[in-house]
Amino acid sequence: AILVSRRVKGRRKWNRVVGVLKELEEGCSTSIGRLRQVVDAMAVEMHAGLASEGGSKLKMLLTYIDSLPDGNEKGTYYALDLGGTNFRVLKVQLGGKRSRIVRHKVERQPIPPHLITSTSEELFDFIALTLKQFVERETNSSDLPLDKKSELGFTFSFPVRQLSASSGILIKWTKGFFIEDVIGEDVSECLQQAMVKKGLDMQVVALVNDTVGTLALGHYHDADTVAAVIIGTGTNACYVERTEAIIKCQGLLTNSGGMVVNMEWGNFWSSHLPRTSYDIDLDAESPNPYDQGFEKMISGMYLGDIVRRVLLRMAQESDIFGDVASSLSVPFILRTPLIAAMHDDNSPDLREVDRILKETLQIQEVPLKARKLVVRVCDVVTHRAARLAAAGIVGILKKIGRDGSSGSTSGRTKGGGESTNKMRRTVVAIEGGLFASYTMFREYLNEAVAEILGEEIAPYVVLRASEDGSGIGAALLAASHSSSNVDNVR
Ligand code: BGC
Ligand code: MG
Repeated sequence: AILVSRRVKGRRKWNRVVGVLKELEEGCSTSIGRLRQVVDAMAVEMHAGLASEGGSKLKMLLTYIDSLPDGNEKGTYYALDLGGTNFRVLKVQLGGKRSRIVRHKVERQPIPPHLITSTSEELFDFIALTLKQFVERETNSSDLPLDKKSELGFTFSFPVRQLSASSGILIKWTKGFFIEDVIGEDVSECLQQAMVKKGLDMQVVALVNDTVGTLALGHYHDADTVAAVIIGTGTNACYVERTEAIIKCQGLLTNSGGMVVNMEWGNFWSSHLPRTSYDIDLDAESPNPYDQGFEKMISGMYLGDIVRRVLLRMAQESDIFGDVASSLSVPFILRTPLIAAMHDDNSPDLREVDRILKETLQIQEVPLKARKLVVRVCDVVTHRAARLAAAGIVGILKKIGRDGSSGSTSGRTKGGGESTNKMRRTVVAIEGGLFASYTMFREYLNEAVAEILGEEIAPYVVLRASEDGSGIGAALLAASHSSSNVDNVR
């Protein structure tokens, strides 16, 4: 009798776990109808953010970048890329139209964790020192001596109110960074001072968001590139907007008639987003509650932790993970690369899932049925993330009249600019760990973009993976804003 009742209890517990999964699936549902609502909301918010300062949760920040690299750039430029999990220093040699990028060198290193909540001085001293050591190594090993003051592109991947193409003020931190005394400061100036202290004679000539760097490299390779998206530790997008559509900045004149706009879409919000209790808790316990709502459903910093919260709930409802729910209570213990590894595990007995549960969570002997459940949870959370990102991308296409809908909110200019009836090839450059290294995420994203656009329009839209574009692009923009390139100096 005891055995039987144990079995009944076991089944009841399993049913509760299945109930948790069902509820998650419903909460995360992204039907095509709902995605279309997100597309529309994104386009509407873009309009609002361009109409007036503070008009939307989308900041729609001006970049003062009005022309994108075309291949004519020449010379040697350095770049720094700060804002994700890794910090990068780069050296890029540009050979002009014929030889293009002659050589580029990238060095990556994880950001020392204590720095992300340190002081302005510590952060920028670290950056300047790393750059100095890199430059010294490069000048020793290279046969080209530095003949003039080196120019630098600085990729700083946080919301910045640009003062010019080479300077700007940090509005707020995201992605777990919090260094209070940088907020409100000109980050180029902070870096410039740290470089002077270290005796490094370099000049920041381009200060850009990572999306903008990615767009620059994308455009360098393929002139049909009009937007760029980052889906890594954080998420964001930028695109080329017509200056006359940037209503909040009357009288903005550029040679090209356009300007790159940094959307800061991580902060997008809409009541149409499918939100669960796990999202609400994650937000409440984050260092930036009520902030970066879209980012918290999509990007690599958070996906693993949403999964962790669901598994914790399952562990609380049952004993499928044994007695060790305590490891599941540790915030951020399950990083997104682990989710990707478990989700992409194709072995029949889910060996990788087993290994990760053992090594990371110290959960031993998880039966196959429970391992399958873990994969299912990863799937639900990632599926939602990828489809929401896809809706965001189509939202941008809609705003610029490249989604094929006749009701496009933009795209017709006086004197016959872009016609919304004639589809043009449109390339979106995409960078970041989720798109690059998480197969299922990438597949879901591609699939959803095609699904929303429909089979007639989808072939015109190319999502192109980019690597190190955020940094290399900054070097390209440094080249086009170089003092030796007088034409481009504003
Ligand atoms: C930042 C953006 C950045 C994105 C991707 C977000 O948290 O606010 O500026 O582009 O992460 O790195
Ligand atoms: Mg990055």
